[in-house]
Amino acid sequence: MEYRRLGKSGLKLSELSFGSWITFGNQIEDGMSERLMDIAYDAGVNFFDNAEIYADGKSEEVMGEILSKKNWRRDSYVISSKVFFGNGGKHPTQRGLSRKHIVEACEQALTRLKVDYLDLFYCHRPDKETPIAETVWSMHNLIQQGKILYWGTSEWSAQEIMEAHMVAEKYGLIGPTMEQPQYNMLVRRKVEVEYSQIYKTVGLGTTIWSPLASGFLTGKYLGKHADDFRLKRDELGWLAEILLVEENFEKIKELNNLAEELSMSLPQLGVLWCLNNENVSSVILGASKEYQLIENLKALEFKDRVTPEVLDRIESILKNKPTHPQF
Ligand code: NDP
Repeated sequence: MEYRRLGKSGLKLSELSFGSWITFGNQIEDGMSERLMDIAYDAGVNFFDNAEIYADGKSEEVMGEILSKKNWRRDSYVISSKVFFGNGGKHPTQRGLSRKHIVEACEQALTRLKVDYLDLFYCHRPDKETPIAETVWSMHNLIQQGKILYWGTSEWSAQEIMEAHMVAEKYGLIGPTMEQPQYNMLVRRKVEVEYSQIYKTVGLGTTIWSPLASGFLTGKYLGKHADDFRLKRDELGWLAEILLVEENFEKIKELNNLAEELSMSLPQLGVLWCLNNENVSSVILGASKEYQLIENLKALEFKDRVTPEVLDRIESILKNKPTHPQF
């Protein structure tokens, strides 16, 4: 495992990390969650990703229970939570990026995760109904109080991230260190084009999500769909509709052939393709079964097989390289 700086910060994250969306407290048994965390930690993963909304808080409870049983030194791993969507409550104060919800969501995440501080705390989406200054002040104060160490955003536009930095600059506050965008062979624009300037100007770090497009980029939907595949879940019908289309299946078949030629699996090629982007600080893996995590972590052994020629061949299959606007 190699470790990359989270943007310009001094924090080093494992290049592959592990998250709990859909799985912990929901799709899989707690014993499996524990085995997956063991496999990840033993392989050198030092960042575990979570959020208040995952399984309405249960995902954090399960992770907290597991962490409290381990003899892992607290200074050997990084844990995150995210605020915005709430954890199931229907009251207007129970979601968003107001000072009230940020402070309460942080307290609740600390309790569920059974930790004294969060290493990373993300604003899970932008909140159009809260001034960005209120959010920046709230995050800064949590850092001052020692309750979080770094704060960041998820799926914010470059403009919104820069507005947060302008507020931070104006009042001498700590601005967002990292963004958590979706990034995979099928979703590229934000990471490759929109943020391209702010990697340089503010030193933005990225912890990217859904590197395998929720499992679609493993090729498993080419064959018989087992009922426990993620994209068969009712709650993700909308995502299946976007992904499971003929155009994407054509690409998957060709990518599968290429992966075979390189003596690796398609998920391994998908993970390595994400890692190849130097602006990616950490690729957050997800897994519902042990073999998946073991297979995806093993990708690191094949890094040198993804040569510039291979990347060119991938481009010619994907035909979706985003470009900067022309003037
Ligand atoms: P992936 O795109 O890698 O999808 C993971 C899922 O794909 C697994 O749970 C499994 O689903 C399937 N899969 C993975 N590897 C294999 C394999 N080798 N063979 C077969 N199937 C495989 O990542 P996620 O979508 O889970 O995203 C990773 C993390 O990113 C999340 O856990 C979360 O922490 C974070 N995230 C953040 C978001 C945000 O808005 N900030 C949004 C979404 C995720 P199955 O077995 O059920 O088919």
